[in-house]
Amino acid sequence: MSVLIFVELGEGSIKKNSREAIVYGSKVAAQVGGTAISLAIGEASESELAKAGNYGASKVIYVKKEENIMAYAKVLKDVIQSTGSKIVVASKSSLSDAVLARAAGALNAGFVANAVELPDTSSGFVVNRSIFSGKAFAKTSISSEVKFLTIKKNIIAVEESGSSASVENLDIATAAEDGSAKTIAVEKASGTVSLPEADIVVSGGRGMKGPEHWQPLLDLADALGAATACSKPVSDLDWRPHHEHVGQTGVKVAPNLYIACGISGAIQHLAGVNSSKVIVVINKDPEAPFFKAADYGIVGDVFEVLPKLTAAVKAL
Ligand code: FAD
Repeated sequence: MSVLIFVELGEGSIKKNSREAIVYGSKVAAQVGGTAISLAIGEASESELAKAGNYGASKVIYVKKEENIMAYAKVLKDVIQSTGSKIVVASKSSLSDAVLARAAGALNAGFVANAVELPDTSSGFVVNRSIFSGKAFAKTSISSEVKFLTIKKNIIAVEESGSSASVENLDIATAAEDGSAKTIAVEKASGTVSLPEADIVVSGGRGMKGPEHWQPLLDLADALGAATACSKPVSDLDWRPHHEHVGQTGVKVAPNLYIACGISGAIQHLAGVNSSKVIVVINKDPEAPFFKAADYGIVGDVFEVLPKLTAAVKAL
């Protein structure tokens, strides 16, 4: 039985979250005695695609296509059928939500989002998943013949085996002719580091007092090679661009390090950052709710703390 992993490509290589999905999918394949196959749609060289083998996939089916969610879903459904895959895995993202939900609907299959650990396959197929923005967990059984699941970011370590996967090019005629959804252009956000992919994020809230006071935060981000982000009110007030807004209604990030500067830690903000490995909170109010979600907390004024942190990073 094969496990099919939907792989997202970005800037010509396999995205970090999809590397996690391949590791997860190959562990599921080992659990059920099957093989792990990846489906990658987009732009990447054969040598980049073969790196899927590093994370446990034996084969990559590659479809070179323009970005179009309807086409992705049709290709995914066709490949599931042609490979006879019974389990489909992806990292949870807005793209995988849209694509897997459509393919699962077309196949009348069960779909569970946000898995936080490997499924329990001892009797049936039970997935433990994060619900209510990470506040609770639910164990859900998928009983359909084909099972779809997405995994939460940062729930599995990416191990590299040094192996490479075989790459099979699949030429599929344009799949989505109905035109109900089509990406017209992809515009890269400003800033040197892409926010959803960033390893380190430095983020500011209303405690930064105004756009004219952002320099200390930008200096720290620069010293760390980090992406910058902000809370929703900050982008609503036009202090920072909208693509930096993280949270329930904004970008979901999963960096190794998230540094929150003058952000209170409302549940809607936490929903976008709670997959971060390490959270550092700087807030002058020791009662700020964010401290409860923090691995490290600094009680202090951001305008005093940030320059000291930047100087310390530069001194390293
Ligand atoms: P505040 O709540 O005003 O907090 C500012 C913090 O800065 C305070 O904790 C204060 O102690 C601290 N501070 C002030 N001065 C300093 C200083 N000099 N040094 C250090 N600390 C200082 N919010 C999001 O962020 N993302 C979302 O996606 C999102 N979606 C939402 C969806 C809905 C439906 C709703 C109702 C709300 C949503 N919100 C979202 C808004 C959310 O509820 C909060 O209002 C928001 O996150 C608060 O932003 P903040 O922490 O920047 O501001």
